[in-house]
Amino acid sequence: MISKNLEKAINEQINKELYSEYLYMAMAAYLDANDLDGFAHFFKMQGDEERFHAMKLYNFLDERGGRIILKAIEKPDHEFDSVIDIFEKAYKHEQYVTKLINNLMDLAIKENDHATKSMLDWFVDEQVEEEASMEHLLNKLKMIGGKGNGMLMLDKELGTRTFTPEEE
Ligand code: MG
Repeated sequence: MISKNLEKAINEQINKELYSEYLYMAMAAYLDANDLDGFAHFFKMQGDEERFHAMKLYNFLDERGGRIILKAIEKPDHEFDSVIDIFEKAYKHEQYVTKLINNLMDLAIKENDHATKSMLDWFVDEQVEEEASMEHLLNKLKMIGGKGNGMLMLDKELGTRTFTPEEE
């Protein structure tokens, strides 16, 4: 059985992961509206990944005898200045999520909840990848100045992204 404190904090994180899905969908919608379907596809896949994160926490909480309580999902921004602006915001958002995961881990350590710590280890590693992939693409975009042929090449490359959730 999980503590009430951790139950509350994991429910909070489920909401943040679902907000992440929403945010990346809003970014995809902006990119689709600007005919950058490869970039849009990248964010749709990223959104799928966020939903998977939410469900990973959902399943864990249920298995530990916690109660899943879904709250309202915050409305994401729909207006962006440019593709570079989107990646700057996505990178910043992932840094924020890393902080949330670290806070959750601090709580699990404080409560000496080994099962939650073990589950969160996966998220700690995942956040290293999430930040790295957003930063990498942001730097590439800056190299090409966010326009021209480089953009078309990157759009084509990102259109091939796939997402296969691992077996539980
Ligand atoms: Mg996530």
